Amino acid sequence: MHALRAEHAFDGERFLPDGATVVIDGERIVGVEGRRHDLPAGLPVTDVGGTLLPGLIDCHTHLVADTSISGLERAGTMSKEDLDQVILSSLRSHAQAGVTTVRDLGDRAYRTLSFRDRPGLPRVVAAGPPLTTPAGHCHFLGGEVLGDPAAAVQDHAVHGVDVVKVMASGGFATPGSDQLGAQFTASDLRSMADAAHAAGLPLVAHAHSLVGARNAIEAGADGIEHFSCLASDGIAVGDDLLDDVARRGTAVDLTLGDDRSLHALIPAPPPPAVAALLDRLGVANFDEFYETRLAFLARLRSHGVRVIAGVDSGMAPWKRHGNVWRTVVEQVDAGYPIPEALRSATSLAAEACGVQHRTGRLKASLDADLLLVDGDLSRDVGVLATPSAIFIRGTAADASHS
Ligand SMILES: [Zn+2]
Repeated sequence: MHALRAEHAFDGERFLPDGATVVIDGERIVGVEGRRHDLPAGLPVTDVGGTLLPGLIDCHTHLVADTSISGLERAGTMSKEDLDQVILSSLRSHAQAGVTTVRDLGDRAYRTLSFRDRPGLPRVVAAGPPLTTPAGHCHFLGGEVLGDPAAAVQDHAVHGVDVVKVMASGGFATPGSDQLGAQFTASDLRSMADAAHAAGLPLVAHAHSLVGARNAIEAGADGIEHFSCLASDGIAVGDDLLDDVARRGTAVDLTLGDDRSLHALIPAPPPPAVAALLDRLGVANFDEFYETRLAFLARLRSHGVRVIAGVDSGMAPWKRHGNVWRTVVEQVDAGYPIPEALRSATSLAAEACGVQHRTGRLKASLDADLLLVDGDLSRDVGVLATPSAIFIRGTAADASHS
């Protein structure tokens, strides 16, 4: 048993007024007290400057993708041994950046499931191969639904997944898939959501199109990924839909957190299909598109939508494994108070991933998933970029200043 006594602390919900002493026994937190709390004689205590907080959660990663362009597609043809190597290296990158839990929303051959609780590596909440239509978005990962959609969900449940991911629209990573249209009918999505819930699993839907998002929300999806709201006449979503999403408590993950300095690596000019799409959406280039996404964050907040932090990490050089702290900074830039932005990557994210009884807060009985950053996080969210120590279920991981 030992204790960390920190000058500043965020407990997953709020900043504690006078720092915290966190007592750790093996993998668990066994006490959270004030900084001046009298500890039992003989208990080793480490005094730390900076801010202690729960380890971060990235709600949308692809551990089998190595952050190169088309890396996810390449995973479709890799051997299991090679996939496992990429998964391991992805998890290490997350750990170094202070991420202690990831929700993987698309692997191949269910490889991520065996990495769920590896000592010293982030916990994995795994979806397995995402369910998609024949030749639909990310079909190369092996999740094409060829028969009864509910049976496909049940088959995933038999494999032991923690969450079901369904592609409700096309996507940028799959040429020929329709980003503006719907994959699966509304009634198919409803039967998939019902099958997932009957198996005790949440269902989250990838939706770039407005029609796909609307179908998934009405089908009872627990979460919407991307939520880009693309339609043939541009990017548009009505207040009524946002109010509906807020009322239902659907978790929305815009998958931001790009390292925008690396957008320069986007091939120029874009492939004709992408250029045509951008033109149709009324934006000049990807950077401009990204700006509209950041502005959307503020609009979601004004409607009281439950926003969680995810990156779609692994999908591109600008979507590194470990980028989730950037989404917190983006939320603050968009007007979210710092505690609210931090919740989206800690306590709220843990709830969305179904692991709130294990992580996401500084609280006795939860796992000792801890992140220490330099400085006072309540004043400067940018210090998230410089983790100085990381503990994953009580085990220290290497920190890197990326
Ligand atoms: Zn994804």
